[in-house]
Amino acid sequence: PIILGIESTCDETAAGIVQGNTLLANVVASSMDMHARYGGVIPEIASRAHAEAFVPVVQKALESANLDLSDIDGIAVSAGPGLAGCLAVGVSGAKALALAANKPIYGINHVIGHISVTQLQFGAIPENALALIVSGGHTSLLQVKDIARDVRIVGTTLDDAAGECFDKIARLLGFPYPGGPHIDRHAKLGDKNALRVPQGLTKGNAGKQHPYDFSFSGVKTAVARWIEQRQEQGEPIPVDDVCASLADSVADVLSGKAMKACKALGSDTLIVGGGFSANSQLREALLAKGKQQHVEVRLPRRELCTDNGSMVAMLGSNLMNAGVEPSPLDFSIDSAMALDQIVMH
Ligand code: ATP
Ligand code: MG
Ligand code: FE
Repeated sequence: PIILGIESTCDETAAGIVQGNTLLANVVASSMDMHARYGGVIPEIASRAHAEAFVPVVQKALESANLDLSDIDGIAVSAGPGLAGCLAVGVSGAKALALAANKPIYGINHVIGHISVTQLQFGAIPENALALIVSGGHTSLLQVKDIARDVRIVGTTLDDAAGECFDKIARLLGFPYPGGPHIDRHAKLGDKNALRVPQGLTKGNAGKQHPYDFSFSGVKTAVARWIEQRQEQGEPIPVDDVCASLADSVADVLSGKAMKACKALGSDTLIVGGGFSANSQLREALLAKGKQQHVEVRLPRRELCTDNGSMVAMLGSNLMNAGVEPSPLDFSIDSAMALDQIVMH
């Protein structure tokens, strides 16, 4: 089937069209520039930008695929997790399209979309794969028994997401928002052993909800305190060394836990997604450990890692192919959608 996917969970208004594992269109409009001067996404500004971008983005996607709405077999839209006001715009728009064109609609889980999208580059997701989804809002390890029917949570962050931790430290170092890519660049020039960065939750089960949970607030606090102490003493900050130490620690924790979970759960494929998976240190660590442990690491190209519409379309396509019931037209958004819920009923 040909599926149109619509995304509006945060600051990207996006529409993608897929047919099987082939990408027919992928149009993304971002309101990031409007948020940069506030140092983070402002929900009201993002919602308004979605309302303005929705129609042109969908039109552009259909045009670039050379299709009419009537050629589409189904519509998928991110129903959560995300910012409520933003989700409401995309979901209302998608429902209007589904009603007007009389097509089935799937209100899908955005985070699981980050897993599905890898099919465009690597083909079908094997049974019992493991997925590591890392972004500004999420750090999750998911066991994918069956992408259309059975996804289980094996780890989430108990506090900050990895991208959020990078963005906060980047701010202290004077980089503009989002700071993750700046830390990546400077980390390549520094000494990763310059600072001792705590790893957090490497031992024991205290406070954990799942066997492979993460915690990055201790990392953030330790690095922030180190920077502030030097500033108070009037000493210069070795920016490259701070970036290298932070990036090495976070990459080590993420890749280490993901590989441990692969071993314990018998997975030989690790699927990676979310904006933070663009991070060089994480990619290197995952590939090196994957090679050692004979795990195939599926690292998608950059435009498939960040929020887009084809990830939503791809999960919709998985659901339709599996014969999963579409969502009722009155399904609601769920800003805190559980990560093991694939579709709204
Ligand atoms: P969501 O969490 O809902 O998926 P998001 O907009 O926060 O949405 P993305 O757009 O997928 O997520 O990712 C943005 C995050 O990724 C930011 O925190 C940014 O700093 C981080 N990031 C992007 N590139 C890099 C990089 N090369 N190194 C480190 N972090 C990066
Ligand atoms: Mg974003
Ligand atoms: Fe995302």
